[in-house]
Amino acid sequence: MRQFGTITQWLYQRITLILVVLLCLGTGVALSGTFEFSEALVKAQALQHARVSVHTVKEAWFLYSQAVVDRLNTLDTVTISPNYHQITGGIPLPATYTIELGERVSQIEDGLSIRLFSDYPFPNRQTTGGPQNLFEQKALTFLKQNPKNSFYRQEKSSGHLVFRYAEAIQMQPSCIKCHNTWPGSPKTDWQVGDVRGVLEVIQPMDIFVAQSQAGLRSLWLTFIIIGCLAVTSLILVISYLQNANQILQTKVAEKTSALIRLAHFDSLTELANRRCFDQVLDQEWRRMERQQQPLALMMCDVDYFKRYNDAYGHQAGDQCLRKIAQAIQDNVRRTGDLAARYGGEEFAIVMPNTDHYQAWRVAEKIQQAIWALRIDHHHSDVAPQITLSIGIASRIPKSMDHPTHILRVADNALYEAKVKGRNQIIVKLPETLQSSPTEGLADLTS
Ligand code: GH3
Ligand code: MG
Ligand code: MG
Repeated sequence: MRQFGTITQWLYQRITLILVVLLCLGTGVALSGTFEFSEALVKAQALQHARVSVHTVKEAWFLYSQAVVDRLNTLDTVTISPNYHQITGGIPLPATYTIELGERVSQIEDGLSIRLFSDYPFPNRQTTGGPQNLFEQKALTFLKQNPKNSFYRQEKSSGHLVFRYAEAIQMQPSCIKCHNTWPGSPKTDWQVGDVRGVLEVIQPMDIFVAQSQAGLRSLWLTFIIIGCLAVTSLILVISYLQNANQILQTKVAEKTSALIRLAHFDSLTELANRRCFDQVLDQEWRRMERQQQPLALMMCDVDYFKRYNDAYGHQAGDQCLRKIAQAIQDNVRRTGDLAARYGGEEFAIVMPNTDHYQAWRVAEKIQQAIWALRIDHHHSDVAPQITLSIGIASRIPKSMDHPTHILRVADNALYEAKVKGRNQIIVKLPETLQSSPTEGLADLTS
């Protein structure tokens, strides 16, 4: 679970990078998809173009055969021959007509080539009339077995991409008599439907490729622009959100620390508050019980503070309390010690690992510090300035003891200090010590 949290945190910190990478990957996949799509489109275009060309030539062939050759065949003045150029009244054979048509179209259309080839070329085409390369051999073999199909493929020729498309020319009833009886015919047992030859179109693809590449370029440019805009907006939005989140986190941290301060510190004096004092006393009491070490508690009360307030005003009273608190805090420096505002003009100090004598030394320093503040108080019966009465108790906690006990003893000591004239320190010794007081401590109690 913790590991999951760490991973989530890791991902969150790199969210911008991750989203940008994902976006780039997506764009890359989309671009390669358009590339494949464009290749397929080019091929489909070339196929369609080649098919239309072959069908056009084929139809011209059949039309010529039926509408011209068949009708003129019976006339004595007309000779149908592959060498019709040299004969008066000669017209071309349908195959010759088709070959010449193909040659003319090839001359007009740059790179386009229309070819007719066969296993049995006429004698005048012995050199070029048969299959000239592997494609033509394969096309012939395939189409003889599958005359209704077409045979095509894409290949490179002289550094250019070309599309080669071939269809079978089947023997028509109108052609069979002539082919089987013509004196120069290389084969005389033709039957209707036999594959007479193959009509091939070699279609250059450069123009299609150029068109598609131009289209692809503008598409990719659009993709890149959209991608850049998307990445920029993404980064802006994420930065804004992260910024807002940071501000929010800072505010929460500030509020939390303010709440913690409120829960533990007194807002006027900035010392620990009563609630914090109670917790620390309880905690240190139990620690000292475990360690069997003494815990000292000091209760301080400002003398005649009501009169001070009445004479100098509440605000001056507050200011005076702040100064006193600071003086106390300055003299309570040992680790584990805690100075707190106990309530009103009363302060309490918890001092673990501290016996009566050590506590008394601290109390003296505090009283001297308060005296050194020289805060005028002309309505006090003790002195013309602010003074403090202090009660101290210290003991090693026993298992049955409760911290309220030491609190009560320290409070009694403070009360005694008040009764005995204020501006003094009273140390309450445990009963066992009081019954046989040591020299130093006996002095302190007086
Ligand atoms: P004593 O020497 O017996 O302690 O007399 P005292 O006047 O100091 O004691 P008393 O309990 O009669 O009066 C305490 C006064 O402390 C009452 C109140 O006006 C004042 N006080 C308590 N809390 C605050 C405070 O937060 N700000 C100010 N300005 N005065 C406070
Ligand atoms: Mg008081
Ligand atoms: Mg007082």
